[in-house]
Amino acid sequence: MKIALIAHDGKKADMVHFLSQFRDILEKVDVDLVATGTTGSHIEKSGFKVDKLLSGPLGGDAQIAAMAAQKELDMVIFFRDPLDKHPHEPDVQMLMRICDVHNIPLATNPASAALMFKSL
Ligand code: PGA
Repeated sequence: MKIALIAHDGKKADMVHFLSQFRDILEKVDVDLVATGTTGSHIEKSGFKVDKLLSGPLGGDAQIAAMAAQKELDMVIFFRDPLDKHPHEPDVQMLMRICDVHNIPLATNPASAALMFKSL
């Protein structure tokens, strides 16, 4: 199982907190984590093994969308910050669209991500 993780700057602490809450499950289940660059660095610092892609604004979201389109992902957790502007908004929209095209579970906030993780 492969899970992609992305968090906008205002949500990176939430992502780390969220993953820490599910550390037991993540260690039990055979899960590969992949993340956009800066999100990945934060996740790594909190003790998880994660493959880091490019930073989101430099194409990381697009890389994750490409993986989703190729059916390489089982789940996408994308903590968007709805109160901030993002130069790569087109990539953000594209990633969410591709998840819908390919019916890949996509959570954009911790409450929905928690429901998805409980199914692991
Ligand atoms: P980042 O990218 O993890 O490199 O900050 C996330 C994003 O803004 O899409």
